[in-house]
Amino acid sequence: MIDLSEQYRQFGISEEVYRFGETILDSLKQRFQQIDEVAEYNQLKVIRAMQECHVSEACLLGTTGYGYNDLGRDTLEKVYAALFHTQDALVRPQITCGTHALALALMSNLRPGDELLSPVGKPYDTLEEVIGIRPSKGSLKEYGISYRQVDLLSDGSFDYDNIRAAIGDRTRLVTIQRSKGYQTRPTLSVSRIGELIHFIKKIRPDIICMVDNCYGEFVETIEPTDVGADMVVGSLIKNPGGGLAPIGGYIAGRKECVENAAYRLTSPGLGKEVGASLGILSSFYEGLFLAPTVTAGALKGAIFAANIYEKLGFPVVPDGAESRHDIIQAVTFGSPEGVTAFCQGIQAAAPVDSFVTPEPWDMPGYDSQVIMAAGAFVSGSSIELSADGPIAPPYAVYFQGGLTFPHAKLGILKTLQNLVDKQIVKRNFS
Ligand SMILES: *Cc1c(COP(=O)(O)O)cnc(C)c1O
Repeated sequence: MIDLSEQYRQFGISEEVYRFGETILDSLKQRFQQIDEVAEYNQLKVIRAMQECHVSEACLLGTTGYGYNDLGRDTLEKVYAALFHTQDALVRPQITCGTHALALALMSNLRPGDELLSPVGKPYDTLEEVIGIRPSKGSLKEYGISYRQVDLLSDGSFDYDNIRAAIGDRTRLVTIQRSKGYQTRPTLSVSRIGELIHFIKKIRPDIICMVDNCYGEFVETIEPTDVGADMVVGSLIKNPGGGLAPIGGYIAGRKECVENAAYRLTSPGLGKEVGASLGILSSFYEGLFLAPTVTAGALKGAIFAANIYEKLGFPVVPDGAESRHDIIQAVTFGSPEGVTAFCQGIQAAAPVDSFVTPEPWDMPGYDSQVIMAAGAFVSGSSIELSADGPIAPPYAVYFQGGLTFPHAKLGILKTLQNLVDKQIVKRNFS
C-alpha cells in the first residue's frame, strides 16, 4: 500500500485528520461497492444507447448557422431517448440551464386556462418565479396558467387524499421534483415517483407527469421515465453532462411533449429542425459517457462527508446510512463560523481558484448572506465539487459534486482540517 499521508500533509491535512478519514472509509467499503455496481450498470446502458444509435465520428463535429440536418445533434437526441426509454428528446446548448429547461417544458405544454399541480410541496426556488408563486415577468401566471400545491405529509409521505382533491378538470400537468434540492424533505426514489404517477394516472390518464430530474440522473439504475413519467427534465452542468458539458439542458419524453418544447425553444414551424451545435457536441457525448462514474464519485463524496460529520455529532441530511437518490449532502454546523470554515475548505481543495477565500455576501434574491465555494472548470457547475450555505439558522451547508472521488475526498478532509484548526471541531482524533 502506498502511504498517502505525506501527500495529504502537503495540503495541510494532519496525520490525525487523515487517519480519521481512513477509518470512516474502511466502514464504507460495501456501500461504495454497491455504488460502483450501479455505475457499471449505467455505463453499459450509456454505451449500448450510443452503439444502437450509431454514434459516429461525424457526430462529434458541429454545424453553424441554421443547423439544418445536424447529424450529431439529432443522433445525441436519439441517444438520450434510448437511454431514458422515451419516444424523443431535446438536448441543446440553447437551453441555458436547468431552470430554463424546466420553464421550457412547462410553458410549451401548458395553455392559458390550464392548471399546474405540484403534489410534492414547494418546487425549487427558481421555479417560484417561472410559475409565478413569486410575481415575475413572463411567469406562467401572467399567461393565465394557475398553480396548486399539495405538501408532503409530516412523515414525508404523499398526501394522497389532498392530491386527489386537487386534481380538477383544468389540471393539465403535474410536476414532481425528484431531488430535495435545498430543502430538508427526503429525496424521492424513482420507485416512489412511480407510485405517485400511478396514482395520478388512475384518476386522469391524460395528465402530463413531468419530473424535475436535476441531480438524480444515474444515481439509480432506472429513471423516472421507466416508471411512467411523460417527461424528465434536467441540466447538463449537473450529472448527465459528466463535468464536460459547458452548458445545456435536456427534455426527454413523449413525442408530443418534446415537440411542444422544441416549437417553443426555436419557433412554431421550425421546432427541432434548427439549432446549430457549433463545436460543442463532443463534450456532450463524452460527458454523457463519463456521467455514470462521475455521478458515482460525487455520491461517494456525499456519503463520506455524511459519515464523517455524523460521527462528529453534526446533524446530516441524508444520514450516513440512508439510501441515496440524489448527490446533495446537507450538514448543519449551528454556527456561521462552521459554514464559512466548511466552504473555505472546499475552495482550498479546488483545481481552479484554490487561492481565493470565499466570504459571505449579499446575493440577490436571498434574504440572508450566502457563502459559496466553487473552483470549477465550468462556471457554476454543481457536478464539480461545490458548496454553499446561507448565513442564517440552522447554519447548514449544502454540498455536492466532485468529478472524481479522490478530489471529493481531499475537499472533505480539507473542510474537516479547517474546522479543527478553527477549534469548531474539538475532538482529539488520536
Ligand atoms: C439545479 C436545480 C434546478 C435549476 O437548475 P439551474 O441549472 O440552477 O437553473 C432545478 N431543480 C432542481 C431540483 C435543481 O437541483
